[in-house]
Amino acid sequence: MNPLLLPGAVIDGQQVTLGVMGGGQLGRMFVHAAQAMGYATAVLDPDPASPAGLVSHHHIATAYEDPQGLAQLAACSAAITTEFENVPAPALATLAATRPVAPGAAAVAIAQDRAQEKAHFDRCGVPCAPYAVIETADHLESITDELLPGILKTTRMGYDGKGQVRIATRQALKDAWAALGQVSCVLEKMLPLASECSVIVARSADGEMVNFPVQHNLHRDGILAVTQVVEGLVDPALAAQLVAAARAIAQGVAYVGVLCVEFFVLQDGRWVVNEMAPRPHNSGHYTMDACDQSQFDLQVRTLAGLPLVAPRQHSQAIMLNLLGDLWFRANGKACSKEGSPPWNEVLALPGAHLHLYGKLAARPGRKMGHLNLIAATAAEVRTNALRAAAILGIEAF
Ligand code: ATP
Ligand code: MG
Repeated sequence: MNPLLLPGAVIDGQQVTLGVMGGGQLGRMFVHAAQAMGYATAVLDPDPASPAGLVSHHHIATAYEDPQGLAQLAACSAAITTEFENVPAPALATLAATRPVAPGAAAVAIAQDRAQEKAHFDRCGVPCAPYAVIETADHLESITDELLPGILKTTRMGYDGKGQVRIATRQALKDAWAALGQVSCVLEKMLPLASECSVIVARSADGEMVNFPVQHNLHRDGILAVTQVVEGLVDPALAAQLVAAARAIAQGVAYVGVLCVEFFVLQDGRWVVNEMAPRPHNSGHYTMDACDQSQFDLQVRTLAGLPLVAPRQHSQAIMLNLLGDLWFRANGKACSKEGSPPWNEVLALPGAHLHLYGKLAARPGRKMGHLNLIAATAAEVRTNALRAAAILGIEAF
């Protein structure tokens, strides 16, 4: 049970402080939400210019497993969360010895490891793609043809499509496993996708659970490009099933915090779970402007032991991810090295909300920010989102 940490409370002469492991954009948006509610914040991230560190009351710039850094974070924080799943599980366990940590080390350890994750989905009765775990050359030999063509994914440390190779033949599989350094992998059958969806749930320490509506996601080159949460896009019967599955997955690990579950919807109408992220998710950024509470507000509430109230989506929403590529080809023209895409043109559109993460250097594929478009109707939000995409040089969807 997380203790109740009332916003603005003063403990030992200090404003009550919420801590976060990781200083990326998700940490930054958590910090903003926590501060808006009256909490002080602490960030542990080795990068002195981390997006969250730049806006936090405290920034501890040590390695994630540095005992002194962890001790410092625990000393100033009344409770601690995480913003990325590859935070070393032993570091969370160290923090948990003296402070409430949500999500807990056990849930994070499952999400860090594709094999454990799939076993967890199995235990929860939620179907995933046919797969095999590959740890030895013998495992590689014994896979069945049913898994080909497939995707070989490293069991650990993959993100944004990194650590994945698509393979069609047994020889290609051998080559791919060698190229990945013969580390532990899962081979997943390549499925014919109709669409991709995700569901974000928040669960409190006493088992209360709420969820956001189902998000419809478009990935390009393994990276989320567009999220749409508009009327008529996701069949309500399908949406109900995905929400139930996401809730079962959270319940199955007595999860505390915000959890995102990603799904594949297949061309024959069936669906499978893909993976889970033990934190707010890129596909939930629309909640910041289209819902009465954002995914980061709910992360604060679960961490501080505050009540969870079902969030309400008040506007139709489309989110465009702003990758570093745009800094080089907005409007089809190269931006100057220091220049920015033409935000002035984008912000002239009704219902446009720009979120940039404070990263100084743009690089292709780097998540620099996101743009939320909101409107009263699905048609209106789509028109404006397509206009924004055209201005920025993002391919239409
Ligand atoms: P994330 O940044 O979401 O953590 P990731 O690197 O963990 O990404 P996955 O979500 O496993 O990668 O896969 C990335 C994308 O590749 C998926 O969103 C989907 O478009 C495609 N993909 C992955 N697995 C399969 C599959 N079994 N069949 C078809 N497409 C797949
Ligand atoms: Mg994914």
